[in-house]
Amino acid sequence: MSTALATQNGPDHEAIIIGAGVCGIYQVKTLTDMGMDAIVLDSAGDLGGTWYWNRYPGARFDSESYTYGYSFSRELLDEWHWKERFSGQPENLRYLNYVADKFDLRKYMQFNCKVEAAHYDEAENIWRLSLDDGRTLTCRYLIMGLGLLSQPTMPRVEGIHDFKGESFHTYYWPQEPVELKGKKVGIIGTGATAIQVIAEIADKVGSLTVFQRRPNWSAPLNNSEITEEEMADIRKRYDEIFANCAKSPGGFEHQPDRRGFWEVTREERLKLWDRLYDEPGFGIWLQNFREIFTDEDANAEISEYIADRIRQRVNDPAIAEKLIPKDHGFGVQRVPLETRYFEVYNRDNVELVDISETPLERVTEKGIRTSDREFEFDIIIYATGFDAITGAYDHVDIRGVGGQTLREKWFDSPSTFLGMFVHGFPNMLMPAGPQSGSASTNYPRGIETGVNWCTEFLKYFRDRGYTRFNATEAAEARWTSHVEKMYSTMLMRKAKSWFTGYNSNVDGHEAGKVRYFVYNGGSPKYVQRITEIAGNDYEGIDMTSDTPHSPRMPLQQMGDAAD
Ligand code: NAP
Repeated sequence: MSTALATQNGPDHEAIIIGAGVCGIYQVKTLTDMGMDAIVLDSAGDLGGTWYWNRYPGARFDSESYTYGYSFSRELLDEWHWKERFSGQPENLRYLNYVADKFDLRKYMQFNCKVEAAHYDEAENIWRLSLDDGRTLTCRYLIMGLGLLSQPTMPRVEGIHDFKGESFHTYYWPQEPVELKGKKVGIIGTGATAIQVIAEIADKVGSLTVFQRRPNWSAPLNNSEITEEEMADIRKRYDEIFANCAKSPGGFEHQPDRRGFWEVTREERLKLWDRLYDEPGFGIWLQNFREIFTDEDANAEISEYIADRIRQRVNDPAIAEKLIPKDHGFGVQRVPLETRYFEVYNRDNVELVDISETPLERVTEKGIRTSDREFEFDIIIYATGFDAITGAYDHVDIRGVGGQTLREKWFDSPSTFLGMFVHGFPNMLMPAGPQSGSASTNYPRGIETGVNWCTEFLKYFRDRGYTRFNATEAAEARWTSHVEKMYSTMLMRKAKSWFTGYNSNVDGHEAGKVRYFVYNGGSPKYVQRITEIAGNDYEGIDMTSDTPHSPRMPLQQMGDAAD
């Protein structure tokens, strides 16, 4: 496509969405429904985002399936049968494909094309995208559906390429079946991903060696099948279910226990925890007393309760102690949910290697060497996490006004307006960006909110003849400081997790500096705030209009001039 021609006659497309995951699929639907020429680009071979890539054994929702699916279409809700309360990756990918096919969205999607750069052209008021297939595409609106956990990171350890067996990051788990039977397998990491993989493969492999640097608090998923009758009941309750999600801070049906932690007796607290530990999903985390997130003593008590549950499940007391986190309390990082994870360590074919005591030295041709010994493997699995939230943005060369790079602007910590706009990056929208309502909640619930809001905003903007929007510096500064302030009351600020921008494998993201990645005010407050902003004619966002032969001026003045 000729760029010169495209810019003379207007951009190639009105909107380009990067990413064909949960966000991009819905965003392209709403924009094309309103008659916009919008396309989606994705580096993957097909749609699905997270659920396209993460094909590792055990990958499944930690949200109740029926709260994860889209809510926008009654017909879709009535047609789809979630088979499990926490559905697995193959089914989740089938669902997203079903949605795209049902609403005929594939025709807007292009795959196997990675956007390497996106530069804002001030003179033309367009975004110019460079793709790895050599094409340049232009658009008026650049919409980011990049995902929050889509930039996997490998450990910084020597010799990774020396290994002669099979090895992969969990995100890039091969599409063709991996033969595990009888194999000697090593896995690095004990985050949410590793906890799912380990529990799933321990009884299928010959031997499994788990390299743990820091343990994670984890609680039972308590998954189950959803029968036809149960699904029929869920369908009847969908309105109520989504209303409940909208009321809860996390966007789940789980509502916090609003009694004061110290106002009830210890017996009552234990009774609640005994019940929640055996219930499905995030109840033990999100239906708990709110003080566990802010009060050191309350957090210490729930942490000790969970530690005792781990001790009850692991036969060897020394191993149990190694599996209990000592550097952070329960719930200050997103809690991995597990299915018989701790019992895995009672198996004879599973070994836990504490690499905080005997650090990884290097990967060798045959396996992994720690300071203690060399381990030989057929397969090495890297479950070493993500350059979260901003990582996917950092991997595109995004330049705004005056050539400023987003990477540099966000190096210390992201700054945004509502998690959806960045000052100096006009006509760029992030329906589920850093500091938006999505990152710390039931992701699709936040995404739908963000996509709907961005769509309404673009409608408003286009209907009035505007062509350029840019969040003001002051609005961005206010929002970013609001997000930062919320961290100050949360124990999470002390945790080394992706919520605080920690990743030991990324330069400048090591421990020591908090990055303000997530909005911690909860969904209802976030929705209230963005609704107010919309109701106040999108205050905080400058909107202007280009006319072919006149300088840019606010529309108000253009009206005055016409009079
Ligand atoms: P993660 O929580 O960041 O865990 C990464 C693990 O790798 C940690 O145990 C980390 O140890 C270890 N690690 C990283 N670099 C290492 C190194 N150089 N040497 C040794 N160990 C190293 O990543 P994740 O498990 O992929 O999970 C990320 C997020 O994805 C979760 O919080 C969750 O939101 C989401 N997720 C959701 C589900 C679901 O159920 N739907 C499943 C999986 C993931 P340290 O802790 O010491 O850094």
